[in-house]
Amino acid sequence: MKFDIAVVGGGMVGASFALKLAQAGLSVVLLEKHPAKAVSKDDSFDLRISAINRRSETWLRELGAWQLMHPERICVYQQLRAFEQEQPPLDFTAAEIAEPYLGHMVENNQIQAALWQQFPTTLTTLCPATVNSIQHHPDFVSLKTEEHGEIIAKLVIGADGANSQIRQLAGIGSNGWQYQQACMLIHIQTAYPHLEMTWQQFTEQGPRAYLPLPGHDGSLVWYDDANRIAQLAAMSTEQLHREITQHFPQRLGEFTVLKQAWFPLVRSDANQYVKGRVVLMGDAAHTINPLAGQGVNLGFADAQLFAQLLIEAWQKGEDLASQRVLSSYQRQRKIANLTMMSAMDVFYQVFKSELAPVRQIRRLGLALAAKAGPLKAWVGKYAAGVK
Ligand SMILES: Cc1cc2nc3c(=O)[nH]c(=O)nc-3n(C[C@H](O)[C@H](O)[C@H](O)COP(=O)(O)OP(=O)(O)OC[C@H]3O[C@@H](n4cnc5c(N)ncnc54)[C@H](O)[C@@H]3O)c2cc1C
Repeated sequence: MKFDIAVVGGGMVGASFALKLAQAGLSVVLLEKHPAKAVSKDDSFDLRISAINRRSETWLRELGAWQLMHPERICVYQQLRAFEQEQPPLDFTAAEIAEPYLGHMVENNQIQAALWQQFPTTLTTLCPATVNSIQHHPDFVSLKTEEHGEIIAKLVIGADGANSQIRQLAGIGSNGWQYQQACMLIHIQTAYPHLEMTWQQFTEQGPRAYLPLPGHDGSLVWYDDANRIAQLAAMSTEQLHREITQHFPQRLGEFTVLKQAWFPLVRSDANQYVKGRVVLMGDAAHTINPLAGQGVNLGFADAQLFAQLLIEAWQKGEDLASQRVLSSYQRQRKIANLTMMSAMDVFYQVFKSELAPVRQIRRLGLALAAKAGPLKAWVGKYAAGVK
């Protein structure tokens, strides 16, 4: 089977990229291990949710996927609050930057299902598909698969997540580390409905965050030492409830714990996003500390830029694998992703530090930042994806 583009990985990023190219008329094949599952209106909320910024929302709307999601399962937020114990909070609001809202909390599986639902019949989806090998040729790449034989494409896209097999098969190294910390996601129901606000409290053990979901549902994120998170994960629901009551701000009020799961915190950055005719995007290219909820937003920005460059080249009859197209993608996205990843690391270290001088600078920084001004407006716009 021969295609212009073969995308390996049909998660949120790979599916959005494959869909855009297929909508533009390129011949695309998507290879995925597990099919996306439909989400129905009344299902219980999934634990994996993402803060989707305005730019990503526009991307999903252009693809026609946003419109297919259940509005009653999506939660808008107008305010983002950061605070330390006994310190005045730092608030970013939509009103301050003259925007109607900052973003939405959406379940990952709902985004993925909506994208798959939008796939046109011209997009060939092979699922399950297992790639055994990649062979590079001057004008094409050949993928040998277990279930579907040989796939030939002008470009192969690795959108197969943090442990990308395509990155490994292409011999692209990555550097990074596992943070000493882990994070636990806890789905709760509160006595009071949410206030369209997401907040993050900084403690020396790590941040504690609240992400609102529609109605009385919400998600807590508990960052802590990996051993402490493992200890929490082994607790009964009643014990975990007690720990949350002791270690989360009282503003939570009465709540019930419904389910939880935990994740290691990993940072990694591929040494190259492009090697020959293989291109990486999304978590296959970079994983970022989830602290600021930017991971999939960066992945969508990769997909959006590369799709735009490829469609322009294709419409002009240029080679899809031209140096101009591939280097332009790599240069622009590497700079943007590295900047965000490094900013998150500085933020993470500063807020975790127990050193008195760092604490003082942090408090001073929060107090200064709390005053409305151009810097605050810039940060607010950046987080909302309107900058
Ligand atoms: C705790 C936590 C909270 C987060 N919160 C946020 C947030 O609020 N906002 C945000 O923007 N980001 C957030 N992120 C990050 C976000 O979840 C990821 O950036 C995002 O899921 C990456 O999407 P992806 O499509 O690149 O990769 P994945 O979601 O990992 O998708 C990869 C796909 O490839 C498939 N696959 C894997 N290997 C193969 C193979 N060999 N062959 C075929 N298919 C394969 C998988 O089945 C999967 O469907 C968070 C991450 C964590 C861990």
